Order: sequence, then structure tokens, then C-alpha cells
Amino acid sequence: MRIILLGAPGSGKGTVAEGLRSAYGFPKISTGDLLREAVREGTPLGIVAASQMGKGGLVDDATVLALLRERLARDDCRGGHVLDGFPRTLAQADSLESIGAPGPEVVFDLQVSDEVVLRRLTNRRTCPKCEAIYHLLNKPPKTAGICDACGTALVQRNDDTSEVIVERLRTYHAKTEPLVARYAAKGALYRIDGDGPAGAVLGEVRKVLDAVLGRAESTGTGE
Ligand SMILES: [Zn+2]
Repeated sequence: MRIILLGAPGSGKGTVAEGLRSAYGFPKISTGDLLREAVREGTPLGIVAASQMGKGGLVDDATVLALLRERLARDDCRGGHVLDGFPRTLAQADSLESIGAPGPEVVFDLQVSDEVVLRRLTNRRTCPKCEAIYHLLNKPPKTAGICDACGTALVQRNDDTSEVIVERLRTYHAKTEPLVARYAAKGALYRIDGDGPAGAVLGEVRKVLDAVLGRAESTGTGE
């Protein structure tokens, strides 16, 4: 089953993708993870990506697509995958098709109100050393401002301040809503209420996916 997750920053896509991986075994593919992995391993594409990021820019779509093409060809993707964070725009969806990737069978749109996103992200604190993530309201560290795991002082990421989040949300709505409309027109779109706690959101996604998988099986078109 080929699955795409859409949702604003802070909508919980990463948590849902991880839940789908552990429940169904579909690998979770995020372009952020792919870039970090390629840079860490110093692959030819990783070297290109590192030099673009080093100049303070974004990695270009051609490099991201090359990484995706290579990732989607690996054995563990034969039964499907969950794409988290790509495509975000119509142009990216087109470019994904241009490398021969078949379109998604299921697209989940995690719908979260801007207010909830702001509350989630402005309270987020991360550990710069071990990358543990805390939330001042829902998952505070035992000692204020200090990582439970390694004792390092927690920081707020620059892109988790409210001005930046409002801007990211505006960009998200402008660029991604046309993509949502396209997938809806293809009958692949499922809207999920993402305002609730992570467990409830994942439960809702799984309920829909089980129904789709059951239908695919009974008509003999499943994997
Ligand atoms: Zn830590």
C-alpha cells in the first residue's frame, strides 16, 4: 500500500508514520531522514546535499528526488511505503511521477487547527545533544530546562517561535491545499481530525487503513 501523509507542521505526521511502520511494517520515508542519512554516510548525493545546505540554502528538488528514487527501489518498499513530508506541492507531486513512482493509493490529510499547532510547537523544547523532544505542557522534563536523558540544557528551535510558525502555516496552506484537492479528485484522500492526542489520531488513521486494506483484499487487487 502506497501511503502519503499530508499535514501542517506540528500535525503529528511523524508519529503517525512511525505508528504505521510498527503496526503494518510499511517503511517510513521522510526526505529529512534521507538527507541526514546521506550526509552522514557521505554518499555522492549526500556530498551534494551537504554543500547546498552548507551555503545556507535548501537542497534542490533534483537531489531530493534522486534520493527518493534510490530509497523507493529498496527491497523493503515492495509492499508499500509511507511518505512523510514529500510531496508538499503540486510541482513536487508531478516530479515524483516523473521518476516513475506510481501515485499513492491512500492519502491522509491530518487536519489540525492553527491554534493547536501553535500550542504544540511553541511549547516544544529539544535537546541539542541527544535530540530528545519535550513539551512544556504534555511532556515536561523532570528538571525544568534540562534533558532527562543526558543532562544537557534544552533549547527552543529557531523555527518553533510563533512568528516563524505562523509563516510556515501560511506557506503550508497556500502550497499544499491544491495538492489536497488533486488527491481528493482522484478519490484517494481521507481527512483525519488531528487535533486530538496522538494515540487517538493514529487510531483513526488505522481504522480507515484497515477498511481500505480489507476492500483491496476482497476485490483481489491488494498487495
Ligand atoms: Zn539529551
